[in-house]
Amino acid sequence: MSLPERRADLRELSSYHSPQVDVPVRLNTNESPYPPPPEFVDAWLQALREVPLNRYPDRTVRLLREALADTNPFDCSAEQVFCGNGSNEVLQTLLLVYGGLGRSALVFEPTYSLHSHIARVTGTEVVIGERSSDLTISPTEATALIAAKRPAVVFICSPNNPTGISETRATVEALLSAVIDHGSGILVVDEAYGEFSDWSARELVSDDLPLVVTRTYSKVWSLAAVRLGFAVGPTEVIANLNEFVLPYHLSASTQAAGLCALDFTNEMQKRVEMIVSERERLAAALGRLPGITVYPSGANFLLVRALGLDLWSQLVGRGVLVRDFSTRPRLEDCLRITIGTPEENTILISTIAAILEETNL
Ligand SMILES: *Cc1c(COP(=O)(O)O)cnc(C)c1O
Repeated sequence: MSLPERRADLRELSSYHSPQVDVPVRLNTNESPYPPPPEFVDAWLQALREVPLNRYPDRTVRLLREALADTNPFDCSAEQVFCGNGSNEVLQTLLLVYGGLGRSALVFEPTYSLHSHIARVTGTEVVIGERSSDLTISPTEATALIAAKRPAVVFICSPNNPTGISETRATVEALLSAVIDHGSGILVVDEAYGEFSDWSARELVSDDLPLVVTRTYSKVWSLAAVRLGFAVGPTEVIANLNEFVLPYHLSASTQAAGLCALDFTNEMQKRVEMIVSERERLAAALGRLPGITVYPSGANFLLVRALGLDLWSQLVGRGVLVRDFSTRPRLEDCLRITIGTPEENTILISTIAAILEETNL
C-alpha cells in the first residue's frame, strides 16, 4: 500500500509543538495558573442545558459578537467582531482570506512562531523582518521592508511572545501608515496578552483603516480548554472572514462559554492584577540573581537570559518546567517563564537561586 505524500510545500515544515513534561511546577505555556470561578462553570452548564442540541448553532454568533462589541472599551459594533476557535483560528481565517498563493505575510522575529507557521500552511510566503537589539520593532526598518515586499498581511504581536515587550502606539501607527502607503495589505496586531498591557491597538480600529486586532480567551479568561478567540476590525474585513470560515465553525457550547465569561469580568480583572503583581515580584527577585537578565514584560510571562548555564534542563531536573528558547536566533540562553501562583513562583525563585549557588561552587 502506498499513501500519498503531503503537499510539496509542507514537506519541510514541522508541526508546532510545545514540549510537555509531567513535573510538579509547569510554567511553560502561558496559561492562567487559576481556573475560572465555579459560578462561571455553573452558569455555562445552565446555558448549555437550554441549547437545542439537534440544531446547528447560530452561524452568525450574534449574541457573543454583540456582547463583545459592548464590552469593547472603544466604539465598536457587532459587525466589527469575528469569533473563532481560539485566536489561532482567527489568524488562520485571516490568512486564508487575505494571504495564500502569490501573497506574503511579514513577521518580526523573534515572535510567536504560529504566525509564520499558519502562513506557510495556508500557502502564504513568509517574509522575515528582524527586531532591533533591544528586541523592539524599528519603525524605519519595518517601513522599508513593507515598501520593498508589499506583504498582504503584516503581523505584530504586542505584548510580544516570547519577549514580553509591548510595541508603542507610535510604532503601530507607523506600521499602519506604511501598510496604507505601500500597498493593499492588512496590519494584524495579536493582543493575546493585551489585558496585561497599558494600551490597546483596538482604539485605532475603524472601518476605513486596514487594521485588525486579535484577542483570546485562552490566557486572561482562564479558558484555554474552551478554544475561543476574536478579532476586532473593519466591517468589510470581518464580513469577508465570516463569509469564508467554515459554516457553523463555532459550537453552541463555545459561544455560550464566551457569553457567560463576560459576566465575570471583575474576577478576570482581579486575576490579571494578581498576575501582574506576581510578575513584578518575580522580575525583581530574578533580577537580583547573579548572571540573570530579565527583560521588561507587559504580559503574563518573563523572558530571562541566563548565560551559559543550561538552566532549562537543570530546572526540569528539579521539577520546574519552563519554555526553552535558547536555540532561537537572538534568544541564545533565554527561557520564557509563565507567571504561576505565588507558591509556584516562590519555588521557581528558590530553585534558580539553588542552581546558581551550586554552579558557583
Ligand atoms: C497564546 C497565544 C495565542 C492564543 O491562541 P489561542 O488559539 O487563542 O489559544 C495567540 N497569540 C499569541 C501570541 C499567543 O501567545
